[in-house]
Amino acid sequence: MLPDFIASDVDLTPRNTLALPARAEFLANITHIEQLQHIARHPDLAKRRRFVLGGGSNLVLTGDFAGLMLAMAIPGKACIGEDAQAWYIAAGAGENWHAFVTWTLAQGWPGLENLILIPGSVGAAPVQNIGAYGLEVGERIDHLEAIDLDTGRLTRFTAADCGFGYRDSLFKREGWHVQGRYAIARVVFRLPKRWQPRTGYGEVAAELAQHGSGDPNPTRIAAAIAAIRRRKLPDPAQLPNSGSFFQNPVVSAELAAALATAHPSLPRYPQADGRVKLAAGWLIEQAGWKGRNLGPVGMYEQQALVLVNRGGATSRDVQRLTRAVREAVLARFGVNLVPEPVFL
Ligand code: NAP
Repeated sequence: MLPDFIASDVDLTPRNTLALPARAEFLANITHIEQLQHIARHPDLAKRRRFVLGGGSNLVLTGDFAGLMLAMAIPGKACIGEDAQAWYIAAGAGENWHAFVTWTLAQGWPGLENLILIPGSVGAAPVQNIGAYGLEVGERIDHLEAIDLDTGRLTRFTAADCGFGYRDSLFKREGWHVQGRYAIARVVFRLPKRWQPRTGYGEVAAELAQHGSGDPNPTRIAAAIAAIRRRKLPDPAQLPNSGSFFQNPVVSAELAAALATAHPSLPRYPQADGRVKLAAGWLIEQAGWKGRNLGPVGMYEQQALVLVNRGGATSRDVQRLTRAVREAVLARFGVNLVPEPVFL
């Protein structure tokens, strides 16, 4: 007998923002950590293949999933403390990221405004160290709590333990979310009381200037970034997609210099380690794929980095387009693009 929070043969189409058709053999709707501990200690369930599912916004389902999918729906958000320097805000893994950011701003706790409108859940945010417009979520995390599904033990990870990097973390590097090793249950954010705007990105500064916001506050920055994102990124409810489909490549200074000689308008962003970050969207556009379709999928006309499902696509269509775009960018620039989503 399965516990009542686990269903069998579940349709995953509404659970992935690319709307690819697939089914899960079992799906657990996780609303509290005891359910994870129950699974970890269950003689049969503990042995099954697992996958930790957040908002499904960074996922390409390549077929049906044989195993137990853990749909993280743990709710709750509250200020759990403050000191002279910061507020400490806890949120359950299942909280919607955008709703959570909006709520912190409404409560008068700024600091996450640059990350407004990023799709997905609170629990998934640290895995990829989501970031936008000069802010990464790892900078605002105090610690998080995860269940080790091999033992059922609750484990605390400080921000330093998480090993955050550019769209990267220990959880992602180890593949723990894909293997279902750790399920992040709760994240505690540290939001500094001395607020400082991050408006260094040209697009953000331009958007603020257009609205006469010479003295930007958190709400104005959030509104400006939300406006930019709405212009450039399709709403998955209207046009299924999984956000940025390729990672922005970080290449050697030599390769970046050689590319800039051949392509003088190439955007280049030097990194602290001497390497140079390139804009994947620019490379894709220059390789001729912006707004171009291959069967029922295509690269979005407003932002070439976003792969969209124009209706009825399967994972084969996605994989075909992924290959075509990678080959075109490699042929033109010698740069190997790496897809951002998990292919499951
Ligand atoms: P964009 O603003 O067109 O930027 C393209 C690339 O240029 C990115 O690599 C961006 O770096 C870089 N860039 C632009 N201005 C920069 C500056 N002033 N200093 C340093 N680097 C700069 O990118 P987009 O695709 O429309 O996305 C908008 C923002 O949302 C970006 O920050 C992007 O990273 C973020 N985003 C994050 C996720 C995620 O967390 N998974 C998904 C989608 C988009 P950065 O990537 O470092 O910003």
